[in-house]
Amino acid sequence: MQVTRRQFFKFCAGGVGGSSAALLGLSTGEALAEEVRAFKLTRTTEVRNTCPYCSVGCGIIMSSLGDRAKNVTTTIIHIEGDADHPVNRGTLCPKGASLLDFIHSPNRLHYPEYRAPGSSEWKRISWDEALGRIARLMKQDRDANFVARTPDGLTVNRWLTTGFLAASAASNETGYLTNKMLRSLGAVALDNQARV
Ligand code: SF4
Repeated sequence: MQVTRRQFFKFCAGGVGGSSAALLGLSTGEALAEEVRAFKLTRTTEVRNTCPYCSVGCGIIMSSLGDRAKNVTTTIIHIEGDADHPVNRGTLCPKGASLLDFIHSPNRLHYPEYRAPGSSEWKRISWDEALGRIARLMKQDRDANFVARTPDGLTVNRWLTTGFLAASAASNETGYLTNKMLRSLGAVALDNQARV
């Protein structure tokens, strides 16, 4: 469609009114349809989560595209603060607001890796392997170093040779269970990122 310079200025001055739309050979409905951009989250799936960065633990809503059908990979396209979350009430600091870049960063680690003693190579391992190894090493260390009594006979039931760091993004319930489990093993050195 050819639009003269004069027609173009008339259209801009008049907005998307019926007469201006007619100048372009469009009906008003067609012109409006051209103008309205589809809401980008219309076809997304929303999932609630927690910002992983700091100990504030703000709630986020992640919106992803992809219907989870076979051979379809879902992609997170938008992240915003969760207005229903009691911590942040929908707000996010600049770090939280840039989470999308963190998620899609080529440097992001997606799986556990292991570097053997003396080696300079990191080797990819499965989650089963990683969790099994952690559990095995914890047991070995605890069996070797658990202190039931001090030399003067005082019962202490403590395990001092391994330390633990818990995540601040965990819920109160997860934090309670983490603390309960580790204290029941006798662990004393338990800290939480929420304190950092
Ligand atoms: S959005 Fe900011 S303040 Fe909230 S948890 Fe993430 S880094 Fe911390």
